[in-house]
Amino acid sequence: MRLLDGKKVSQDILDEITAAVALLPRAPRMAVVQVGDDPGSAAYIRNKIRAAGKTGIESEHVHLDGKISQSDLNTRMAELSASNLDGLMLQLPLPAHLNEGEALEYLDPDKDIDGFHPVNLGRLISGLDCYVPCTPAGIRELLKREEIPTSGRHVVIVGRSLIVGKTAALLLLEKSDLGNATVTVCHSASDDLAVHCRQADILIAAVGRAFLIKADMVKEGAIIIDVGMNSIEAPERRSGYRLVGDCDFDGIGDRAAAMTPVPGGVGPLTVAMLMSNALQAAKRYIGQEN
Ligand code: NDP
Repeated sequence: MRLLDGKKVSQDILDEITAAVALLPRAPRMAVVQVGDDPGSAAYIRNKIRAAGKTGIESEHVHLDGKISQSDLNTRMAELSASNLDGLMLQLPLPAHLNEGEALEYLDPDKDIDGFHPVNLGRLISGLDCYVPCTPAGIRELLKREEIPTSGRHVVIVGRSLIVGKTAALLLLEKSDLGNATVTVCHSASDDLAVHCRQADILIAAVGRAFLIKADMVKEGAIIIDVGMNSIEAPERRSGYRLVGDCDFDGIGDRAAAMTPVPGGVGPLTVAMLMSNALQAAKRYIGQEN
């Protein structure tokens, strides 16, 4: 089984971004907006801020009180959008009393480096130029750089969230060399999940359930992209937990042709594609400044 080393591929992408940033007349400027103190979000934001620093992108962590009202959050998003930032993103999930869709409407779509504004999602589904959501973009980039063709192949995606499953399906369906797949999307109401999974030439798991996908659900020679990030108890570790994917990595190893590890697979690619979108945003604004 070939290990699809997301960490290495993401480093290659970050190196290319660093070189491109160095050629710009000024550094790109981005911000990550966090509401409240979700511990998972804090770790993701640290990785994003670190990657920005390494590539020469100026980044700001805007940390808002978890009790902020919807209208104050909307106003803050509008203010940040009107500032001299090239790009910004709202770290999800938000505290339960806030509506993320409403807050995202106050984000300038031209600065929406996560690609979740309805304008960018509409452009994506229309096949127009847009900011592509980072996790599906990272999966597509990994397949491209690992020379795994998608054209004509059956991709089965488990999970239909907007941020991963649904948008990955759209990308892989695109009529292009990096798409052209036959795509099946499964979810919690799908009957016979194993039957669908066993048909996959490329299986993408984006569920959030540790080890849901077992070896007997995988076709011999399949490519496995494990997006899931699940924290499970590990008393032998100082932290008391470890991160695992949605796939039973050890069991599947004998059947799959190639597979992403967790951690070190899709996660670093998501961060790299955010930097790529921030670079794209800066180029757009620097173009207007000249
Ligand atoms: P969501 O909870 O938004 O979506 C999960 C999806 O899985 C839903 O479509 C749900 O179905 C489906 N599902 C749940 N249980 C089952 C089941 N038993 N069988 C089939 N489908 C099921 O999660 P996200 O998409 O946000 O994230 C998924 C995972 O990916 C998480 O572990 C998350 O941490 C990780 N992730 C990793 C990223 C990375 O960069 N590596 C980035 C983003 C997410 P239904 O729609 O019917 O509820």
